[in-house]
Amino acid sequence: MFYTDQMGKVLQEHLLIERDLRKALDNQELTVVYQPQVCAQDHRITGFEVLLRWYHPLRGWISPAVFIPIAENAGLISILTRWVFTTACLQLKDWHQRFDQSLKMAVNISGKQFKLGRLDEEILSIISSTGVAADRIELELTETSLIDNVDKATEILNSIREHGVCLAIDDFGTGYSSLNYLKLFDVDKLKIDRSFVQALFNGKSDSEIVTAIIGMANNLNIAVIAEGVETKEQLLFLQEKGCDEIQGYYFSTPESPAVIAQLLAPSENGQN
Ligand code: C2E
Ligand code: CA
Ligand code: CA
Repeated sequence: MFYTDQMGKVLQEHLLIERDLRKALDNQELTVVYQPQVCAQDHRITGFEVLLRWYHPLRGWISPAVFIPIAENAGLISILTRWVFTTACLQLKDWHQRFDQSLKMAVNISGKQFKLGRLDEEILSIISSTGVAADRIELELTETSLIDNVDKATEILNSIREHGVCLAIDDFGTGYSSLNYLKLFDVDKLKIDRSFVQALFNGKSDSEIVTAIIGMANNLNIAVIAEGVETKEQLLFLQEKGCDEIQGYYFSTPESPAVIAQLLAPSENGQN
């Protein structure tokens, strides 16, 4: 009885969030923030990951970890991705013009989108209409989403990749352990999951997994970035092992465009 009662409550909660999410875009409750990704060696900003934020008028901030899965199940994920992707491309174009043309933008793509419509056409049309350089855009995909939809994903991602868009594997090491997809499409970057980074010094296995991922990526000529880096010790370990890029609170939390522009501005004046 307790179990059914709990399930009923969760379902009802999901339905309420779904109902409000449908209105959130029109009501301008959604925003995005950008988290810098930096070069592990010289700490220069190389790009950003765009992350969605929702401020609900009554509930306050709702985490994307909560509402993205609901959006996926409610068939709203394509609309959200389209909005996030367009916003991020326009923002990147602005930063290219004002600061540095080499900056990249990473965008999260839900695995559900391989099943819905033509993700490649959608992505390429936004890139062309916003006028941003395709090779400065990176799609973050999880291992699980690729394995679940391998045929469709291969076709769609190869078509996107042909236009120069980069592909990164998010949360690397936490999904299915099949590495077969590394042969099916040209992967540009592996993103070491933050659970490994955060457990780096809690016993041997996480540090060995991280070392192995970096070694494998180096051997395969795939770039590697670590996420969730919060301490100097984690940074030094990753640097020493040959990790290319770093993302995490140690350098910056996800921030608004105004704050990011301040971070980028000194390098424009050569002060850094
Ligand atoms: P993710 O793709 O793994 O994103 C990284 C998450 O780690 C973000 O959480 C970020 O704020 C957080 N993070 C970054 N640095 C640190 C750190 O040093 N320490 C800790 N503890 N956390 C750190 P966030 O923004 O709450 O997003 C959660 C998840 O929601 C994302 O995980 C992603 O799966 C999903 N998400 C967010 N925005 C989008 C979006 O636009 N589209 C889709 N499909 N998913 C999104
Ligand atoms: Ca991500
Ligand atoms: Ca991740």
